[in-house]
Amino acid sequence: MSSSSPAPIAPTPSLLAKLPSVDRVLASPALRELSTQYGLGQVTDTLRAALDGLRAQAQAGALTAEQLDTQAATDALAGTVARRLEAKFAPRLRAVFNLSGTVLHTNLGRALLPDDAVQAVVRALTTPANLEFDLATGGRGDRDDLVDELLRELTGAEAATVVNNNAAAVLLTLSALAAKKEVIVSRGELVEIGGAFRIPDIMKRAGATLVEVGTTNRTHAKDYAEAITVRTALLMKVHTSNYAVTGFTKSVPESEVAQIAHAASAADPQGLPLVVDLGSGTLVDLSRWGLPHEPTVRETIAAGADLVTFSGDKLLGGPQAGLIVGRKDLIAKIKKNPLKRALRVGKLTLAALEPVLRLYLTPERLAERLTTLRLFTRPQAQMHAQAAALRPLLQTALGNAYAVESVPLFSQIGSGALPSDTLPSHGLRIQPVDAKRAGRQISRLETALRQLPRPVIGRVADNALWLDLRCLETKDEADFTAQLPLLGTTVMKA
Ligand SMILES: *Cc1c(COP(=O)(O)O)cnc(C)c1O
Repeated sequence: MSSSSPAPIAPTPSLLAKLPSVDRVLASPALRELSTQYGLGQVTDTLRAALDGLRAQAQAGALTAEQLDTQAATDALAGTVARRLEAKFAPRLRAVFNLSGTVLHTNLGRALLPDDAVQAVVRALTTPANLEFDLATGGRGDRDDLVDELLRELTGAEAATVVNNNAAAVLLTLSALAAKKEVIVSRGELVEIGGAFRIPDIMKRAGATLVEVGTTNRTHAKDYAEAITVRTALLMKVHTSNYAVTGFTKSVPESEVAQIAHAASAADPQGLPLVVDLGSGTLVDLSRWGLPHEPTVRETIAAGADLVTFSGDKLLGGPQAGLIVGRKDLIAKIKKNPLKRALRVGKLTLAALEPVLRLYLTPERLAERLTTLRLFTRPQAQMHAQAAALRPLLQTALGNAYAVESVPLFSQIGSGALPSDTLPSHGLRIQPVDAKRAGRQISRLETALRQLPRPVIGRVADNALWLDLRCLETKDEADFTAQLPLLGTTVMKA
């Protein structure tokens, strides 16, 4: 507090009595207007809380006589109530700029949907639709039928079903096919996928017994074969999405595990099924666009997998969903399991998934139409040009405490896909000029970026804050630059 302000006073009962009543403040023009917008109940509750706060401040002797003046207190309370209600009614789920360098960032919502999918979701939200209604017969339909044909064509599988996410797909598959029985998995594939998805835990929840074979770095065909007993329900392979074991390693390819499973002398003449949790699971060969090859769902089915599970919002570029494709009889069994009802997807998911899958029918146009693939394949020169244009603007906004440079860097696909492969990109590196205070300066900058109207999420590494421009599409560039001047004031003020 500056020396010219009057000193706070210890309030007397008569001064406290000057604080306005709830009714008096409610009757003020400002609060009447807030009531029209937010409703009387919200305004009254917020006002009572604000008045309690003011009274406590007064009792603590933290207010001056001027601040306790009835009119001044009324105005201050109106301001407080307006600010609190505005904050309360502001959405919690907000648009951000993902300049982290990870395209499929789980914490930032993974895949961005193409326009067709967005329009379909809006339509499904605002009009009745044939979600479970067979338009040909007028009878009851099955929601899976909306995408079943597309998924069969795109994967070569006999049948398909959709649930909430891939974790649900694995849980449901194991629960439907392996409850009270054994499932054989290589030790090298007992992965944890961020956010508490661990194969051994899922197995337990599904009521199946995990039979681990091989070692962390090496599993052989005979390890699978020797583990098969009368209690075995299925053999499972899990795509080790988020890590790679390198060096002296051996894993058994899907085709070979499939042969072992199918040859098993179980009760079923088809032998035992092989289930593959593909994780990201792509529907096209990404090497076509110069990206590293990831096993496709079609290849996995062709290699002999009886069921394949994969995510809708990773490489596929669609909404959050878990897809299960494969043998018709096994899919039928899965669909009859009561868990399927508990894990089923809503109409928004199916509305978004269908147009995304349809884009894959025309792979020639996929890189321009599918948002995620467009981001993966953005030419480095585009980000380079963006960096050149944005660098001086950011430098001006930040002032001379920071040095902003245009630098080449690497983006990641994210969500466990192709963990060791990166995409050449370009961006901005921001370093504090005063190296001694670098740590504090970077965290201050990072906070300021997060406090912008549309928060900017970068990445801190090597004493610098990095902004990868791959996911700053041209349509969003104006929004990005428009808020840069605010950054100057927040960083300076901090
Ligand atoms: C990502 C992943 C999962 C979980 O998928 P969600 O769609 O996030 O539920 C399961 N298994 C593997 C191998 C994965 O990569």
